[in-house]
Amino acid sequence: MSIIECPHCHRRVIPAGSGECPSCNRNVNDEVAISKGMRLLIVKGNQHFSMICFNCGRPAHKTVRLNVSNVDASISIGRILLGFIVPFGRLFPAFDAAKRDIFISLKLPICDDCKKRKVNPEVQSYDLEDREIRLVVHEHFHGMATSIGKPNIDCAN
Ligand SMILES: [Zn+2]
Ligand SMILES: [Zn+2]
Repeated sequence: MSIIECPHCHRRVIPAGSGECPSCNRNVNDEVAISKGMRLLIVKGNQHFSMICFNCGRPAHKTVRLNVSNVDASISIGRILLGFIVPFGRLFPAFDAAKRDIFISLKLPICDDCKKRKVNPEVQSYDLEDREIRLVVHEHFHGMATSIGKPNIDCAN
């Protein structure tokens, strides 16, 4: 059994013998889903991309901004804490954690058609501590981003 990327939920999974994804319970061999050619791309920090549409892989002339931040989360942590009476010693570390606002902004290239259809990038998950966003993108965009991204990161370090 090998680990594959599920074409529905884009998690890396070991499918059941029947081809069922353990994460979303859909068939990983579904040809309609596979033919869409969408892949999971892990973006680290504020990466720049070639002008290829993230959604369909065609030449892109515009960009769409994607913002991910923990500001909303910190507000809700603050609210939750106010609802409890906790010893001060425990309260302060929690507030310190909530104060650390992290904000990641990405510009994703998009073609005119997808822009008109108001296609929004699908964020599968993110980890703000690691400045990592996991996005569902077209396989051409994925190929360009991974082939260009790697040497740049090597040079920067
Ligand atoms: Zn799945
Ligand atoms: Zn497009």
